[in-house]
Amino acid sequence: MQAFETIEVDSLKVACDGGRGPLGHPRVFLNMGDKHQVECPYCSRLYVLKAGAKVSGGH
Ligand SMILES: [Zn+2]
Repeated sequence: MQAFETIEVDSLKVACDGGRGPLGHPRVFLNMGDKHQVECPYCSRLYVLKAGAKVSGGH
């Protein structure tokens, strides 16, 4: 399934508020976990870890 939009980030934790416009939603924090990608349940943006990004262990 095609994601609405793919956004590369350099952190496993991202905050998404859908941006401005019709897809805006309350800010939520998403954690990619081991897959290094996560889709926002509100606006279907797909967040992926940037290639080469340093991932720190633990929390
Ligand atoms: Zn979102």
